[in-house]
Amino acid sequence: AGTFLSVRDLHVSFRTEDGIVRAVDGLSFDLERGRTLGIVGESGSGKSVTNLTILGLHNPMFTSVEGEILLDGQELTTAKESELERLRGNKVAMIFQDPLTALSPYYTVGRQIAEPYMKHRGASKKEAWDRAVEMLGKVGIPHPKERAKDYPHQFSGGMRQRAMIAMALVCDPDLLIADEPTTALDVTVQAQILDLLKDLQQEFGSAIIFITHDLGVIAEMADDIMVMYAGGAIERGTARDVLRAPQHPYTWGLLNSMPRINSDLGAPLAPIPGSPPSLLKPPSGCRFHPRCTFQDRVGGNRCASERPLLAPDRASACHLTAEQKQTIFIEEIKPR
Ligand code: SF4
Ligand code: MG
Repeated sequence: AGTFLSVRDLHVSFRTEDGIVRAVDGLSFDLERGRTLGIVGESGSGKSVTNLTILGLHNPMFTSVEGEILLDGQELTTAKESELERLRGNKVAMIFQDPLTALSPYYTVGRQIAEPYMKHRGASKKEAWDRAVEMLGKVGIPHPKERAKDYPHQFSGGMRQRAMIAMALVCDPDLLIADEPTTALDVTVQAQILDLLKDLQQEFGSAIIFITHDLGVIAEMADDIMVMYAGGAIERGTARDVLRAPQHPYTWGLLNSMPRINSDLGAPLAPIPGSPPSLLKPPSGCRFHPRCTFQDRVGGNRCASERPLLAPDRASACHLTAEQKQTIFIEEIKPR
């Protein structure tokens, strides 16, 4: 164990025609080997940008990155493209919502899984092909020997997802970044893929960053949870703590908008009113304040003027006192 990925005060901004978009604004977190960190948030919260930045997949022409990303002791924000190339698909791999972003239509599935193994491990064509077939077997593709010769379009959506996972894991990465990998799949296939990822994590021991807007998926997968809003982390903790006793009004809103699996009535969804803020001109103070109904409990103008930060010793970035957070959750949020 021990910290394997350490992100410190990360700022990522894009230059656009309309101005500077501050997509990630002061983010810090750590990840230990073999653990799964679930990052949850609405689109535009910065969760995908953070992970593309870790992989160095941002466009340097339009993007400015500040802060530190230490992966196994190596600083990535200043790494050369050639160094990042050596990491991608090797030490760090990624799976996406749409496998067709990762798989080319022009090559067989087997060849595409074999390629990173040749590139990073110096394997021969034959060794790499055998490894590809082995990986297809591991991800549960029947008749892997034959199916390796197929093209992606000959696979079903769920099978393509499995093939992409095989490609991501072929070099036994230390870190797997999964960005909404099951969002497009139906519920049954989704459950199968999540089970597969858990089994493979046991076998490969990779740390996983699992990005999703779905708290149900997070509950299934994550050891730790970080909730992001408008480019920053607003709550983090063990999955157990965050799901059982969340401390931030935004997380309360997320939980309340989740269907209750164990409720016969299927409690009505209560989406969080309002919409995520523009990152061209983020709100002052607490970025959630335009949508938050608890500002009067903090008092004064504090929520609109002072940005609450997520200190290492504090699980949520909100001006409410620890006692208020606990009481409000137990008495007003939970019973809903
Ligand atoms: Fe709401 Fe204020 Fe807490 Fe922000 S700091 S979440 S506005 S109570
Ligand atoms: Mg995304």
